[in-house]
Amino acid sequence: MPKMAKSPWLLHYDGSSCNGCDIEVLACLTPVYDIERFGIINTGNPKHADILLITGGINEQNKPVVEQIYSQMPKPKVVVAVGICACNGGIFKECYNILGGVDKVLPVDIYVPGCAARPEAIMDGVLKAVELLDKKQNEAMAKERRENHAG
Ligand code: SF4
Repeated sequence: MPKMAKSPWLLHYDGSSCNGCDIEVLACLTPVYDIERFGIINTGNPKHADILLITGGINEQNKPVVEQIYSQMPKPKVVVAVGICACNGGIFKECYNILGGVDKVLPVDIYVPGCAARPEAIMDGVLKAVELLDKKQNEAMAKERRENHAG
């Protein structure tokens, strides 16, 4: 895991899950898994979030909410789809109201399949998200430096 200048903050949004995956996300916060030992903090404010973790599929009702949360997050940002419902609609994908997985509306960076997704798999997905976030931050800083030199 990269050494980052700031703790990566994460926002968890439940799209239309059955809550099975949400329980496993909560398990990651318990002392058994303790995801916060990596400096990861769970926030409810999109303006503070670096990582958007979504459980459940996308429907007409949550589509604008998901889009708004994502648009409010500062760049660079990473999206993690947790559970097969968030990956592709899962067992609900044939339902009349389900549009599909999170990638129907947002660019998903990391897919964590499973029904429900296991805490170990969620932890692995979040740590991959932290690595990707670090890479995106370094690229953004390098671009800014190039632009400053050019100007
Ligand atoms: S992947 Fe399974 S456990 Fe997770 S929200 Fe969908 S149905 Fe529920």
